[in-house]
Amino acid sequence: MKKKNTSYHIIGAGVAGLSCAYFLKLKDPSCKTIVYEAAGHPGGRCYSFDDKELQTRLDNATHVILGANKYAARLLFPHKWHNNCYFWNVQKDTIETDFRQFKPEIFKAMCNTAADEASKKIKNKIFWKLFPWGTKQRRIYFSQNDLSQRLINPLAVYADELHTDCKLLKLETQFGQIAQLNFNNRQVEINAGDKIILALDAVNTSRFLETPQFEFNGIINIFYHTSQPLSLPKGTSFLGIAEGLCDWIFVHGNITAVTISDVANHNEKLEDLARNIWKQLDTLRNVNSAFVPPFRVIHHKHATIKQDETNNAKRPQNAQTQYPNLFIAGDWTMKDYPCSIEAAILSGKRAAQAALKKR
Ligand SMILES: Cc1cc2nc3c(=O)[nH]c(=O)nc-3n(C[C@H](O)[C@H](O)[C@H](O)COP(=O)(O)OP(=O)(O)OC[C@H]3O[C@@H](n4cnc5c(N)ncnc54)[C@H](O)[C@@H]3O)c2cc1C
Repeated sequence: MKKKNTSYHIIGAGVAGLSCAYFLKLKDPSCKTIVYEAAGHPGGRCYSFDDKELQTRLDNATHVILGANKYAARLLFPHKWHNNCYFWNVQKDTIETDFRQFKPEIFKAMCNTAADEASKKIKNKIFWKLFPWGTKQRRIYFSQNDLSQRLINPLAVYADELHTDCKLLKLETQFGQIAQLNFNNRQVEINAGDKIILALDAVNTSRFLETPQFEFNGIINIFYHTSQPLSLPKGTSFLGIAEGLCDWIFVHGNITAVTISDVANHNEKLEDLARNIWKQLDTLRNVNSAFVPPFRVIHHKHATIKQDETNNAKRPQNAQTQYPNLFIAGDWTMKDYPCSIEAAILSGKRAAQAALKKR
């Protein structure tokens, strides 16, 4: 009799869940990967969409990939690396070419947590491994409204079945194992030998498993649709910003995107913030705009967990759970790593390895 191929039920079609499908297929091409996603599209915190108001395609957030993010770089196939990282010091009104003066700004961007609060272990990892100062590895790529096309859709190919609008409501257990998955629109029986990977964000994971409660930090992205590409000093297409209203500016064609990280409580009206930032960009460019171009503000309130010592210490050590047929993945599960695409991919790889081993 032909041996039944193992089915892997992956819940969550973010980068972690889709990467898990990719690594499972890489190791065991005959396995079956079934991905369930609550939203109407895959990608989680990483996707592109057509903005009807601005009449253009946007990423939900500009994502930066570093040369040293080897898995992210391999899967995303960046086509345009930048080797220089300049900073505009708003108070001094100078363009600084030595990025090493701006370690706090870089740590804040990578940890989404103020540098003096961020976990030492995460900062060490960034310093030595993820942003090796002074080597070519620190080159930068930023997403150009192509996250779905470059990363998410190519990964989704590794899901034999991808069910969107499919929200997990309950995990049913029997004899200490997960026996059934109850979704809003289906029930799935788990056969002996099959495995489940819960690849959710930290908040949703805690609805199903007794995981610690984390604090979160937000990120605000503002996209301005200009009639012509904005020109930045030194001909660069992105700039770090010190002591300004936002942290980074990225220009891609007629879209100028700005990012504000480490947003815990934001009281200013977002439209006012967008207008004030545009005025600050006027100062940078030495112009006086007659009007603010049309813009879209996206405020991700739970962008990542706060990456300080307390929250980093709560992150799990591995992908195992109390149920032998259930594993976890997600950027937040990679202790000592900054929550990022790279961490999400690594977590998917780790969960795939653990699930394959249990066979
Ligand atoms: C504004 C912003 C800017 C960022 N910038 C960068 C950057 O520059 N560089 C970088 O590397 N990283 C960046 N990140 C982080 C990066 O996006 C994340 O680390 C990564 O996308 C996390 O992937 P994930 O799969 O772990 O989680 P998620 O993307 O959160 O995926 C979890 C998935 O589970 C689904 N889900 C939840 N509950 C259920 C349920 N009950 N049933 C079924 N499905 C469910 C969700 O809909 C989601 O699709 C940024 C994030 C944000 C928000």
